[in-house]
Amino acid sequence: MARTAEIISVGTELLLGNIVNTDARDISQMLSEIGINVYFHTVVGDNPERLKDAVNIARSRADIIITTGGLGPTYDDLTKQTLAEAFGKKLVFDEKEAEEIRTYFSQSLHSHAMTDNNYQQALLPEGCTPFHNACGTAPGCAFEADGIHVLMLPGPPNECISMFKNCAMPYLRDLSDDEILSHNIHIFGMGESLVEDKLRPLMLKLSNPTLAPYAKEGEVRLRVTAKGKSAQECEDLMAPVIEQVRSVIGSCIYGLDTGTLENTVLSLLIEKGLTFATAESCTGGLIAKRITDIPGSSKAFLGSAVTYANSAKADILGVDPKLIEDHGAVCRQVAIAMAKGARDRFHSDMAVGLTGIAGPASDDTDKEVGLVYCALAVEGSVYCRELHLGLDRSRVRTSAANHALDMVRRYLTGLPIESWES
Ligand code: ATP
Ligand code: MG
Repeated sequence: MARTAEIISVGTELLLGNIVNTDARDISQMLSEIGINVYFHTVVGDNPERLKDAVNIARSRADIIITTGGLGPTYDDLTKQTLAEAFGKKLVFDEKEAEEIRTYFSQSLHSHAMTDNNYQQALLPEGCTPFHNACGTAPGCAFEADGIHVLMLPGPPNECISMFKNCAMPYLRDLSDDEILSHNIHIFGMGESLVEDKLRPLMLKLSNPTLAPYAKEGEVRLRVTAKGKSAQECEDLMAPVIEQVRSVIGSCIYGLDTGTLENTVLSLLIEKGLTFATAESCTGGLIAKRITDIPGSSKAFLGSAVTYANSAKADILGVDPKLIEDHGAVCRQVAIAMAKGARDRFHSDMAVGLTGIAGPASDDTDKEVGLVYCALAVEGSVYCRELHLGLDRSRVRTSAANHALDMVRRYLTGLPIESWES
């Protein structure tokens, strides 16, 4: 039977809108990878009565309850007491966890001394499986009562997610004899509805593995998930489906489990020993930021010129002011001159140049908001895409950056560079 989970996030700051519930988002993503359906997210403040109410509702409709937050040493950290009480469990002192907490304090560069209430964190529900906290002091835990599995995780995202991966995932996998594995197919250059349209017959036919599309920041991902007796059986079930998807979607697939376009591009650049630079106007350095977010990007990325003003395009990149005078700053000729200028100034093997109108207002011409020219300069050739990316400023910038990275990817893999399907 497929298991269903409910995530209860505890924290008044979540209700006040001071922080975003990233823990629930990240845990949900990981649960779906192991075939556990999440039917509800609940958020409740640091209030034991309301938390108890939330737990009683959750136990009536889920067989796995995962809480985040409220495991720390302070007075408002009430999750353990409340959950233990709700399921009729006593809290008992766990000497091993107490020792771990002592070690953490003695080894960390913590300026503050350990206090008595730190020891309270070593109180755990009787008979539970403790979850060691590799990044902090508050341990988590899991127990079973009345056929329901309760898992408690700390609130700080780094602690919560590492504990989920290291402790909760193995615990949850052990609940089932089956292995569940999934792969993500990353697609750029084809909209979600077109992807779905092309794959609908295949998706309808499949039950194991399943195939599900979802859109993410101007891209489409397809998740293939298989259930089997072993990891190998899951892989064997997924392989032919991945092949079928490849034959239908073709060159718009930029990777399997690769994460992002910039990861794919950087790996290709490093593999081929080539260097890259950017000249960015409407994207304001976004491409450079995305590339340099990746450790090791200095092996291929040389730099970026954020040239917003016309004078900066001329002074820094050597764009002929006459071009801008004749055609405006947002035109094919300027994008190409920017790409060539960056390649020349940074002495890189390839460079992109982007100029566009991110909105919400147009520039002083009659050009539409969302018009972007994205050029790629390489040894002996230039390529340029004219893009119409809509009215939303943030979307225009993200999509423009995606297109620039996609052009580089296509160039490096020998595919046609200026075309895409949307
Ligand atoms: P601590 O030992 O730090 O007190 P805790 O398990 O008691 O850990 P909380 O006190 O509930 O956790 O939250 C600590 C901090 O963690 C919050 O101030 C917030 O910054 C972050 N946090 C808590 N819950 C979430 C959540 N669901 N999503 C994202 N961040 C969260
Ligand atoms: Mg706390």
